[in-house]
Amino acid sequence: MYLKFQQKEEEIQKKNWEEIHKELKIEVGQVAYKSWLIRLKILGFTQKGELFLSLPTEFLRDWVVNHYYKKIEKFCKNYFKQVKKIEIIISAGSEFKALKHFQNEDVINNESSSPLDPRFTFKNFVVGKSNELAFAAAKRVSENNLVSFNPLFLFGGVGLGKTHLMHAIAWDIKERDPKRRVVYLSAEKFMYEFVKSLRYKDTMSFKEKFRSVDVLMIDDIQFIAGKESTQEEFFHTFNSLVGQSKQIIISGDRAPSDLDGLEERLQSRLSFGLVGEIHKADYELRLSILHTKIEARKDVSVDEEIIKFLAKKISSNVRELEGALRRLVAHSELVNRPINLQVAQQLLHDLLRANNRKVTVEDIQKKVADYFNIRFNDMVSVRRSRIVARPRQVAMYLSKNFTPKSLPEIGRMFGGRDHTTVMHAIKKVQELCKVDPSFAEHIKVLKRTLDL
Ligand code: ADP
Ligand code: MG
Repeated sequence: MYLKFQQKEEEIQKKNWEEIHKELKIEVGQVAYKSWLIRLKILGFTQKGELFLSLPTEFLRDWVVNHYYKKIEKFCKNYFKQVKKIEIIISAGSEFKALKHFQNEDVINNESSSPLDPRFTFKNFVVGKSNELAFAAAKRVSENNLVSFNPLFLFGGVGLGKTHLMHAIAWDIKERDPKRRVVYLSAEKFMYEFVKSLRYKDTMSFKEKFRSVDVLMIDDIQFIAGKESTQEEFFHTFNSLVGQSKQIIISGDRAPSDLDGLEERLQSRLSFGLVGEIHKADYELRLSILHTKIEARKDVSVDEEIIKFLAKKISSNVRELEGALRRLVAHSELVNRPINLQVAQQLLHDLLRANNRKVTVEDIQKKVADYFNIRFNDMVSVRRSRIVARPRQVAMYLSKNFTPKSLPEIGRMFGGRDHTTVMHAIKKVQELCKVDPSFAEHIKVLKRTLDL
C-alpha cells in the first residue's frame, strides 16, 4: 500500500517536472533552453520545503542562477506547492529514469570519502609564520589518537593550504593506523549525499555511514550556510561523533562566528575546539614555497631573480603562485631556454595585473549600475527615486569600504553630495544587510564580481 503510494507520488513528480521543462522551453525559447536549461535535473525535496536541482558544471549553474532563477522558481512553485526555496547544486545528478541504477551502483560502491591528493602531505607543506599554528594543530590531531580538541577548525582565504592540510592529516592517520576509518569530503558532497538519501528515503544508512567513522573531515563548511536541513543533519552528525569522542576536522573560508547563514548553535559548536587561522603567506614563506617546489622537480632550474620576482609580485595566494611557476616552467621547457624577467612579465601579465588590482570608485559605480540595470549616469545624477537611490547607496558603501577615499571625497564623486549623505547611505546598507538576506546576498555577489 505504502509502496504504491510512493510510486504514485514519484510518477506525479516526474510528470510535474516534465511540465516545468516544457514551460521553461516556451518561456525562454528553444535556443536558450537548449544551451542552458536542458540539463537541469531534479534531485529531491527536504521536509522543510527546499527543492534541490542540479546542473553538471559550475559554469552552467552560475549562469542559470544569474539569469533564470526567478523563472525556474515561478514554475517550480506552481507545480510543487510545498516548495519554499530552491537550491541548484553542481552534480552530474540523476534523472528519474536513472534513479534505480544509480542507487544500485551506490550500494556496491559505498564510499563517501573523496579521493585524496597524493601531493598534499605534511612533508610537502612549507611552514611559515602565517600557517604555523594551523600546521601544529594538524600534526597534533593526526599524531594523537586521543582527542585533545574537538573540532579542529581551520580557516583562511582561498588557496592558502586548508585542503592541503586536511589531506595531509588524512594521509598521516591512514599511515599510522590503516584501520581507523577516515572520511574526508567537501561540505557540498556532504549535502549531496544527504539530499540523495532523502530522495531514496534512505536517511538511516546516511546517518549510519557518517556516525560510524573515526575521523570526519568536512572541507569548505561555508557551503552549507543558509542550507537549513543540511545544517541540521550535520549538527546531529557532529554531536553524535563528539559524543563518541571521535575526531572532527572542519575547514571554512571564515571564522565560525563570521559564517553568516550558519545557525548560532552550530557556530558555537564549531568554535568549541581549536580554531586555527591560516593567514596570507608573507614574502619569506612565498619564497620558500617556490624554492621547495622547484627543488622537488629535479629537471628544472629557475633564476633566483625570477623566483624573487614571483614571490614579490604574486601575493594573493599560494595556488596562484604555484600556477605562475608552472606556467613559466612549461614555457621554458617548450622553448628550451631559461626564462628572463621580461618574458616572465609577458607570460604572467594577467596574474600580475590581478595581484596589483586596486578597485576605484568608478569601477564600483560601473559594476553596481550594471548589476542593478541602471545607467552609469544615475550614480551621479540628482534623481532620488528608489530605483536609482538604492544602487547609489550600495556603491557608496562599497566605495567607503574598499577604496581609500574619504567620505567627502566619495560624496564629491557621486555628483557633489555631502559627506553626511554618504554616511547615511553606509548606515542604510548595513541595516538592510542585517534584516534582508536577499539584499545581503546582492552585496556579496557584487563584492565577488569586483573581486573584493
Ligand atoms: P585552500 O583549500 O585553502 O583553498 P589548497 O589547500 O587547495 O588551498 O592549496 C592551494 C595550493 O597551494 C595547493 O596546490 C597546495 O599544495 C599549495 N599550498 C598552499 N599552502 C602551501 C604550503 N604552505 N606549502 C606548500 N604548498 C602549499
Ligand atoms: Mg580548499
